[in-house]
Amino acid sequence: MVQTAKTLSAAARIKQRVVSLLHSGSSQFERPYLKKHNESNIPGLFIVGDLAGAPVIKYAMAQGYEVIEHIARLPGAVGNADKNLFDVVIMGAGAGGLNAALQAQERGLRYILIEKEQIANTIENFPEGKWVYAEPDSQAPKGKLWLDGASKEDLTRRWHQIVQENHLNLHIDEAVLGCKKEDGVFCVTTSKGQYRSKRIVLATGQRGNPRKLEVPGEDRERVYHRLYSPRKYKNESILVVGGGNSAIEAAVTLSEQNKVCLSYRGSEIHRAFKDNYQKLNEAIAAGRIELLLNSTVSEFGDKEATLRINRGSEDEIRRVPYNHAFVLVGADIPREFLKSLGLRMENEWEGSLLRTAMLTLLGLFGLWIGGSRTNWAAIDWIPGWTGWLVSAAALGALVQFGRKGDRFSWLGLSFFVWYTVYGVKFGKGEEFWPYRDWGYKLFSFFDRPWSFWYTVLYTTLMTVFGVQALKRWGLERKDKFQIWRYVSLISFQWVFFFLVPEFLFQSAVKYQWVGAKLASDPAFAEQAWRSYGIVYAWPLFFYTFFYNPHEIWVAWGVLLTFVIIPILVLFHGKRYCSWICGCGGLAETFGDRWRHLAPKGNASVHWEWMNLAVLIAAGLITMLVLAKDTYAAVTGPADFGIQWYRLIADVWLVGILPVTLYPFLGGKVWCRYWCPLAKLMQMQSHLFSKLRWSRFKIVANDKCIGCYECSRNCQVGIDVMSFALKEDSITNANSSCIGCGICVTVCPMDTLSFGSETNFGKATKLVNITVGSK
Ligand SMILES: Cc1cc2nc3c(=O)[nH]c(=O)nc-3n(C[C@H](O)[C@H](O)[C@H](O)COP(=O)(O)OP(=O)(O)OC[C@H]3O[C@@H](n4cnc5c(N)ncnc54)[C@H](O)[C@@H]3O)c2cc1C
Ligand code: SF4
Ligand code: SF4
Repeated sequence: MVQTAKTLSAAARIKQRVVSLLHSGSSQFERPYLKKHNESNIPGLFIVGDLAGAPVIKYAMAQGYEVIEHIARLPGAVGNADKNLFDVVIMGAGAGGLNAALQAQERGLRYILIEKEQIANTIENFPEGKWVYAEPDSQAPKGKLWLDGASKEDLTRRWHQIVQENHLNLHIDEAVLGCKKEDGVFCVTTSKGQYRSKRIVLATGQRGNPRKLEVPGEDRERVYHRLYSPRKYKNESILVVGGGNSAIEAAVTLSEQNKVCLSYRGSEIHRAFKDNYQKLNEAIAAGRIELLLNSTVSEFGDKEATLRINRGSEDEIRRVPYNHAFVLVGADIPREFLKSLGLRMENEWEGSLLRTAMLTLLGLFGLWIGGSRTNWAAIDWIPGWTGWLVSAAALGALVQFGRKGDRFSWLGLSFFVWYTVYGVKFGKGEEFWPYRDWGYKLFSFFDRPWSFWYTVLYTTLMTVFGVQALKRWGLERKDKFQIWRYVSLISFQWVFFFLVPEFLFQSAVKYQWVGAKLASDPAFAEQAWRSYGIVYAWPLFFYTFFYNPHEIWVAWGVLLTFVIIPILVLFHGKRYCSWICGCGGLAETFGDRWRHLAPKGNASVHWEWMNLAVLIAAGLITMLVLAKDTYAAVTGPADFGIQWYRLIADVWLVGILPVTLYPFLGGKVWCRYWCPLAKLMQMQSHLFSKLRWSRFKIVANDKCIGCYECSRNCQVGIDVMSFALKEDSITNANSSCIGCGICVTVCPMDTLSFGSETNFGKATKLVNITVGSK
């Protein structure tokens, strides 16, 4: 029994680790799962605004408008005999909810707008006099709600006026507590009553749920999670907890008339506006604020808070006296509320890892019985069709569990598919179990080998999904940079990774376009596969310098790897990965829809050391292979190295693992963690940046509102937002940016742009925030 318990807890621990890895991409800003027209997993319940990922007011308004337009077009949407049944209940009177209500009125829907506090509560809570931008400039506001750049006071005044003039059916000071769907009708419970409705628009935003420290004493009267009027406090001792903009702004304003202690758990403040850094540093220098980094509150007492400060080898316990304490550590998505409504969140890892592993294995085992017909007596008596049946049943079960919300099942299926694709491609007679000796033949149709059909599949995926990505990022946003980028990626795939190696090279030899001498030289003519090396540089194209290459390939390989690529890197950083390369191309096209799931956080950046390990392995093995003709003693290690590199890097790391993980960790797993060429370019670009020769960087202006869209969509997990908030440049000295420009494209505030001048080092690393801190 003890053994079982131990085994179970080990399994649970493995599952926990796997889940935290798979979840890291979306854990910072979770969102509900949404379908077309912003409909949630509950039919008839739509989500708009901040909660649905609209980062700015204009987008929140547009979603409110569009969802109502969609609802109004549905059959039987408007009116019914039952006077107590609303057509739509709108929850939350922010930008999204107000515009939805105005549009519902316009379309003659019977609606009610329910707001738990006041009209535009989130904006009302902005600091006094804050300028509210009406970005993006390129789009006009949709619907009847007014929007232009204005102070928060002017903006909210206009909105109050619009609400009054339109006599909106608005209930303020009434919180939605729950909502259930029974017999096709939603029953909404609020703090003041109940409402029945055909449809729901949820526009409650993300900001209304202040994050708590969950420590004893946090519910005391003088511990607050919001700061409304900082200037009403005078000559008091105040403790502010947090390291973001709200905490810093609060601390700085409060310090004008009070003694302030700012406690932050991190070792440096890295997600705050440049302006706030400056003000904080001044206040610290003037002795108005004491900053305690690496500190956490363990208890709020009656008059003192107990803080634990990490001093390296040991913790210091400090008691900080306070009259008022403000815990301003951000807001959590109202997860419990959303789950209580029955909503599914995106990237939720529910289900059974063990069951998935068993079913996937069973699927492969079935193929072994059905396909291989080995001479193994123990299984050969089983009829082949039983194996196919077992396999089909296992895969069917995975699909069924997946449809019921078990995400592990989809992971298992994805593995099954890509293990098959790459395990069979390894070569005739060399296929992976259970395809050994039959898989390659099975997948080779019309006299063409599986390797050809694999290239067809690859090119088809890149074209179909590339056109979708081109539409999403380029055409719909009228973004020329993205249009050219996707045209480039698709064209390189078609020309250099499909037409040339599969057709044009053969024609060039057959019709002697390359000249009679080359065309008749078997070292050139019989190695069509080397034409991949026209664009793929060593060590991504690992075999450039060995396996008996014609000297023309060696010369081109040296030129490409050691001259052309470095020049490209000098001017464009690592754009090879996002404009040219076929591996990066599949990630940017087929993997695009999952780009927001890329692993994020310090640990995920730390793992990038792995591509250095692959680069070193590639370099060593290449040297061994080149040396083996001269030194016979290295023949064994060289052959061994090639065999293992081929298996591990060329099959598992570039194929099976990353492509399996596309829907779960985004498309850039290979490029970010294992590609040796990416590492080589990273090292060159890092050096060029340090020497101030690099022509590549991304710069930020002062308009960032911290919406997280840029970080969310970065396929290589860079926390772009923290650079933007500080107006720091992104270069390859401080990140592994591949220059895809998606962060620039998605930023609704036009904060980011590509810089061209070489002023690295003059970038805005403004203040040493640890000055004055203890
Ligand atoms: C510091 C900061 C600066 C920003 N600056 C800008 C800017 O300059 N320009 C810009 O375009 N955008 C800016 N934004 C973003 C902008 O505030 C949001 O995009 C916008 O407010 C989203 O609107 P919404 O309707 O989705 O949600 P919200 O505006 O958050 O509205 C949600 C409403 O729902 C209510 N509510 C919540 N729970 C319930 C419940 N249970 N029952 C009933 N009602 C409920 C809330 O009280 C609130 O009124 C900024 C955001 C921040 C945090
Ligand atoms: S930082 Fe921006 S340009 Fe660089 S890789 Fe990330 S999204 Fe692309
Ligand atoms: S830079 Fe990033 S976080 Fe800042 S406004 Fe733009 S997309 Fe949002």
